[in-house]
Amino acid sequence: MTFDEITGHKKQKDILLRAISSQHISHAYLFAGPEGIGKRLIATAFIRTLLCEQGTGCGQCSSCLKVEHHNHPDIHFLDAEGSAIKIDQIRELQQVLSLRPLEGDYKICLVDGAEQFTTGAGNALLKTLEEPQSGTIIILITSQPERLLTTIRSRCQKLIFRHLPKQHIAEVLTDKLSLNSTEAKIIAALADGSFKKALGKNQELFLEKRQKLIQSLSALSAGSIIPTFSFADELESDKEILPDILDIFQAFYRDVLLLSHGRSEEDLVNLDLLDILNKQSQLFSTTSLMLKLKALDAARFHLRRNVNCRLALEVMLMRIASA
Ligand SMILES: [Zn+2]
Repeated sequence: MTFDEITGHKKQKDILLRAISSQHISHAYLFAGPEGIGKRLIATAFIRTLLCEQGTGCGQCSSCLKVEHHNHPDIHFLDAEGSAIKIDQIRELQQVLSLRPLEGDYKICLVDGAEQFTTGAGNALLKTLEEPQSGTIIILITSQPERLLTTIRSRCQKLIFRHLPKQHIAEVLTDKLSLNSTEAKIIAALADGSFKKALGKNQELFLEKRQKLIQSLSALSAGSIIPTFSFADELESDKEILPDILDIFQAFYRDVLLLSHGRSEEDLVNLDLLDILNKQSQLFSTTSLMLKLKALDAARFHLRRNVNCRLALEVMLMRIASA
């Protein structure tokens, strides 16, 4: 992709394009910001433009094609081995960066998940950053910049990326995926500013599956334990998407709360479930809605700490049903 084809992040793109046109390229960049909002896409567009034979990131020249296909000899990708980036990988990188570029003017290293440096690896990388060689560029990408050594952070030019505006994501979804505007708004609201979430397998979760989940959730009642337990069973069967499911439940009760306080439909996420939302807003007081939201928060807290998942879900659903 070229810079033009990537949605949003105008300020960051301008900074990088200015660096290229003025030939003031930093020897190290830190791209920091939430997951799935396009940091790696922008880094790749930057690299492509830097190495392009036309200087534009044309997408046609042999250099652009190699960047797209991940086989350009002057780009070194550094990924975590297991859950860490280790010192041996940095030594290998130093070796690679010490050689002259084979095709263009730059040797570039892209590290995605830079928070995963071990302390040893971080310190070794620091040496490379302190004594930069001309023509080498290191791009660190991370969603958790606070986990990097301060000394590494201070040696990089920082570009901070933020969530994309909901409206922006919704427009792209209607344009490119021909979703109707209600569907696009729902997905954009639940994707939390991330294109990665808005596209792909979350789409089915955010549309059809969300409707079913909310129907089951709103049918729970304090007196009937069996349906509550079997719903917990169902939720536990797909642990990978549990955080997204909790987000869906949270958005649902937030909608009910907004509706019961007279907020317009514009502000709601579940625009296709107005019947259920209206019913729930008549049934529950602000206090009980707040208790339901608290039960969700507590479950999220426990699940992050790897406690017994089944138990956490059962407790959460019982608290929601009885609030
Ligand atoms: Zn090109």
